[in-house]
Amino acid sequence: MALSTIEKQLSKSDISQSILEGILNASRESILVVDTAMRITAANSPAQNAFSRGTEPLNQRRLTEIVRDVDLHEGFQRTLNNDRATDLRIEFNGVEKRTYDVHIAPVEIDGTRHAIGVFYDITQIERLEKVRQEFLSNISHELRTPLTSIIAYVETLQDGAIDDPDNNKRFLGIIRRNAERMKGLISDIAELSLIETGNVFIDVRDVRLAPVIDDIFAALSSKALERGVALVNHVPNDSIVRADSMRIEQMLTNLVDNAIKFNREGGSVTVVFSEESKKSMISVVDTGEGIVPENLQRIFERFYRIDRGRTRNVGGTGLGLAIVKHLARLHGGEVFVASTLGRGTTFSVELPL
Ligand code: ATP
Ligand code: MG
Repeated sequence: MALSTIEKQLSKSDISQSILEGILNASRESILVVDTAMRITAANSPAQNAFSRGTEPLNQRRLTEIVRDVDLHEGFQRTLNNDRATDLRIEFNGVEKRTYDVHIAPVEIDGTRHAIGVFYDITQIERLEKVRQEFLSNISHELRTPLTSIIAYVETLQDGAIDDPDNNKRFLGIIRRNAERMKGLISDIAELSLIETGNVFIDVRDVRLAPVIDDIFAALSSKALERGVALVNHVPNDSIVRADSMRIEQMLTNLVDNAIKFNREGGSVTVVFSEESKKSMISVVDTGEGIVPENLQRIFERFYRIDRGRTRNVGGTGLGLAIVKHLARLHGGEVFVASTLGRGTTFSVELPL
């Protein structure tokens, strides 16, 4: 063979080597190659990041040192023994807990048998799946409760209560309230999906804040009364915010609604207003039981509710704060929370002036 041809072949194989490395390292999946002695003979950079505690290279380390998982070990062993592919799922406790779907296939390298494991990280997919399941179970509960009550009262009316002047109007009132609760839930879901797909536009104008708070309090007064919670509007009469009037009402309704729901008998909800050079701040202050620090950021996630057992009694799906956060950001603003356990919680909406 002429020297130039050898040179060409050499450089060709160098190139394909670097292409191969490039592909392996560009892949999102972690890839480990293991020999029959169960030692790692190659690892791409995602695997290095995922499995190496510190910066030590994975090469030549024992698989069991890196990932202590019996199923994984047996999976590699099976593929090496039977020359057949294996699929399995593992959980790996690194910096945080991650779940992988692993596909292990036999591969011949330089005449010896190896197994190549491709680790597909499904942590996020699993998390979303859990959120989806919780959402479905929550939403069916939230729809079923008012519906059950509507059906029961309609049946009672049909069975004769319609002619009972003491109760017929009251029963109709209950039916209406429950139907409205269902309508509210459905519009929250529709609303959030509109906001999240970027299909909500806001019309920002000067809005007088104090009357908006009065309207919100009027709409929620029976709920507050029922729970023995006082509503206090401390917003000065001349306060102006730059906002979409419907959206600011929606945001503050959600916050006041929460402040009533998660309050205590004899407690209060106070709305205060402050203004700095470039921004205004509307705060809803309650005297409820407060929120533990671990939950403070999560409560803005959609469908997230603290302690399902307890919050189930007060109703809700966990959409309110997600909507508030999105709407505040649409205004170029932000929503903040501060809470002291046993004392109460303050939610503040900050809006640019
Ligand atoms: P929805 O608003 O959809 O009817 P929700 O009120 O449960 O349902 P969010 O408004 O998103 O949902 O609130 C999420 C969770 O945050 C609540 O379930 C509750 O656990 C907690 N939370 C919200 N506001 C307060 C508050 N003022 N005090 C204590 N906990 C609160
Ligand atoms: Mg709410």
